[in-house]
Parts: sequence; structure tokens; C-alpha cells
Amino acid sequence: MTPLDPSTALLPELFIARLQEMLPPASREPCLQSFSCHRHTCFRINTLKSSEAELVATLRAEGFRLQPIDWCSGIYSIPPAQRRALTESSAFNQGLIYIQDLSSMLAPMLLDPQPGECVLDLAAAPGGKTLQLAAMMQNSGQLSAVESVKGRFYRLKANLERGGASMVRCYLKDGRSVGAKVPGRFDRVLLDAPCSSEARFDTANPESWAHWSLKKVQESARKQQRLLDSAIRALKPGGTLVYCTCSFSPEENEQVVDAQLRRYRDQITLLPIVLPLSNLQPGLLQWGKRRYDDRLRLAVRVLPNDRMRGFFLCRLTRSG
Ligand code: SAM
Repeated sequence: MTPLDPSTALLPELFIARLQEMLPPASREPCLQSFSCHRHTCFRINTLKSSEAELVATLRAEGFRLQPIDWCSGIYSIPPAQRRALTESSAFNQGLIYIQDLSSMLAPMLLDPQPGECVLDLAAAPGGKTLQLAAMMQNSGQLSAVESVKGRFYRLKANLERGGASMVRCYLKDGRSVGAKVPGRFDRVLLDAPCSSEARFDTANPESWAHWSLKKVQESARKQQRLLDSAIRALKPGGTLVYCTCSFSPEENEQVVDAQLRRYRDQITLLPIVLPLSNLQPGLLQWGKRRYDDRLRLAVRVLPNDRMRGFFLCRLTRSG
């Protein structure tokens, strides 16, 4: 095993101690390494605006060393050294591709929206997942994107416009109020919740963890509870909901879902998640003195590596 990068010691001690406790022993070192690694850059071909074969040929002719991600179509990676050139390429500037972490792309894949359906993205900016949903729906049906922060809302709108996602209606609103306003409206709901962003910590950028504290984690968790409640209310009986975060903290993940399982009891059911990846851990059933609902073993924790950041994903449905 490669020795730990000493810069890992810069991360908050409490964060590291908690992480060690929640990870399987064999994943602890690779996970800590991942905060200092230069990850491959992944991007998705925007099929709303380009044909994959042509665009791949153009990018290769421009010198980009593209590697397809073999378990899903339309997604490629390039070496870290080419990231900057990709962000300056005309494909990027014209919205023909969208640069995004591979773990983030899993949430729309698991939601699996179909053309013609009525879909909600409850925390949408800057819009990477909204664009992916619109492409999967071939711009047909209804896709509502909610964002509560003004500056981010306008960035969302600009990204959707650049990406050609003409089907999306954007709402500058607090997602916590949506479920009560339009109960049972949507076939599918994505809640990519605002979180402590622990999986985005980067030892080369101390700003990435400057605001982290246990108090912030708990504050995020309270907001997430209310957003998830709203998302469940907005879901049609029989519909599918994906809840995800880029945090490792069980308070923001299993505990948020556990609270809704207690509230809604057998009105909601967790669905299995099948992914062709080896860097996965099932949802935790215990954290400290808290024991979570056994059904949470169906949730998935993506363990970080040189291609993917950490991520938590949970898929559920609502009964009639
Ligand atoms: N899904 C986005 C993407 O893939 O590009 C990233 C979403 S980010 C994790 C969470 C977003 O939720 C942030 O843009 C944040 O401003 C927004 N947010 C925070 N509180 C919210 C609320 N009460 N209602 C709706 N959105 C909220």
C-alpha cells in the first residue's frame, strides 16, 4: 500500500476519526489517499446536442486521450493533466459535454426516468443531474427543477440553456415546501441534497473543509430531513425516489432515511441498488448508539477511488 500523503493530516481530526469508524478496515487507507489524489476527469456526452460517435472522433483528433467507462454508454474519462484543456475546448463551451464526477452520474441512472414522465429534481443547481435527466427523457415529458439559492438558480438556468434541456421548468423555491403544494404529483423524484460535501474535501484546497464541523453536519441533517419528507410527499404512489449526498456522515445519510422510514412506516419501501462496481459498501445499520432500520442495508455507499468520489445513494418507492 502506498504510504499516506502527509497532507491528509491537514484534514479535521474529528472528521478522520469518524471516517475510520464508518469505513470497512480495508477501505480506510485508500479512502484517505483519495483526498489527495489527482482524479481522472469524467464527462458525459450531452446527447441532446451531439452524436456520440462524431464527438468522440473530434475530441480524439484534438488530442484528448478518452477512455470509455465500460459499464455505461456516453461516459468517458481523460487523464488529470488534460482536464484544463477540456474545460477550454469548444465541446465544453458549447454544452456538447458535461464534466461531472462519475459517482454523481449514478443518481439519475438509478432514478431511470422515461420520456413522457413527470419528474422532479428538488435541489437542482448547478444542474448536472437535471441535464442528465433531460437527456435520458429525450426532452419529452415534464421535468421540474427546484433551487432555493438565487445565484445558483441563475447558474442552473444558464447551464440548462447551454445544454439544450428545453423541457425543464425551473423554480426559485424552497424545496421543503414543494411536497405540501403538489402532493403525489411526480412519477420520479431526485433529491441530491445540500450536504456537508465531505467527499469533496481536497488536501490541496483547505477551503474545501474550512466550514466543516459536527454542528454543520447536524444542521445539514435537519434540513435534509425536511427536504426528504417534502420529496416523499411529492412522489406518486408507485413512483421512484432517489436520495443522495456527497457526505460520508451517517447523520446526513442513513439517519435521514431512517427517520422517514419511522414516519411513513410501510408506506415507503427501500428498493435494491445494483451497480457493476466493486467500491461499494451497504448502508450502515448502526452509528454510535443509534440502530437504524434493517432495510437500510439496501442503501449504497460508494467508496472513493482514483475515478470516483464518495457518495451515498438510496432508492425508495411509495405504496398506494
Ligand atoms: N443536483 C445538483 C447537480 O448535480 O448539479 C447539485 C445539487 S447540490 C448537492 C444541492 C443544491 O441544493 C445546492 O444548489 C443548494 O443551493 C440547494 N439547496 C439548498 N437548500 C435548498 C432548499 N431548501 N430547497 C432547494 N434547494 C436547496
